[in-house]
Amino acid sequence: VNKNLEDSLAENASKALGELLSNKHLYQRTKVSVEFLDAEFARRLSDYGEEPESPYGPPSLEECRADLERWTTCQWSLVLPDQNYCHQYATIGSAKDVLGVFLPTIKTVCANPRCKERAPFNPVSCSVSRNNGVEHEQCFHLEYQCQSCKGPNVHFLVRRSNAKLTLCGRSPIEVVEIDKAIPKENSGFFRDAVIAHNSGQTLAGLFLLRVFVEQFWKSVPDVSAAVAAKTRPTGDELGEAYKATLPNDFKVRFQSLTEIYDDLSAAIHSANADAILFEGCQKQIVTHFEARRLFKIR
Ligand SMILES: [Zn+2]
Repeated sequence: VNKNLEDSLAENASKALGELLSNKHLYQRTKVSVEFLDAEFARRLSDYGEEPESPYGPPSLEECRADLERWTTCQWSLVLPDQNYCHQYATIGSAKDVLGVFLPTIKTVCANPRCKERAPFNPVSCSVSRNNGVEHEQCFHLEYQCQSCKGPNVHFLVRRSNAKLTLCGRSPIEVVEIDKAIPKENSGFFRDAVIAHNSGQTLAGLFLLRVFVEQFWKSVPDVSAAVAAKTRPTGDELGEAYKATLPNDFKVRFQSLTEIYDDLSAAIHSANADAILFEGCQKQIVTHFEARRLFKIR
């Protein structure tokens, strides 16, 4: 067994897990980098040439390749930082290979209301189950704790298939940090929109973003006064009433929300789950509210 090879793979697996838990959202993936195995294979190939297998000679190509590939398809054993782990011990006495993967420290937003910051979290517990009895199909249940408040643990469910890792579950749900310029009274819709988009439900996200715009318009006293005579004012009517409340120099320099509203409506009506549109509208909405602050519009 090539010790370095095994260590590199375990290290890359740990990195991919850290990236998944720190920076990815529900149902997103990371992949363990295994490119170095190709380089290792090429190196062995040039070292040994294409000699046929012999009891005393160098290993065959098949042996080389099998030796490299078994580490991507073997079972993983997850190791907590305070546990001692030796790859050699894991394989001795067992016919099957086991790759010991250290659980990384991650960064995520703490759900504790006293904390609510992006903080380092340490792994405190883990369990592993196999899917369909296959070595390289595994499910990990991981528990992490916030270093700064030592509050309740965050639970993650990760599915592994060979070198691919998918974030399949998280409790409590991720806390989304949103820009402080977004008005608090309506920020719930905005936050839910971002969570929906992050979880792969962009169309629901676009809809929630439009709900946010609409509810914000309705919360502006001048707007509600302007449409008071109508039982069900349309988005266009609300938008026009809102536009009328903005100073002219504001409208010259910044978009009112009506353009964004129209773009969102068009996407919703054609069921177009456009991720680029979502992220663009998200940015433009933030810019709009920052501009309101700049103009001191209350
Ligand atoms: Zn905390």
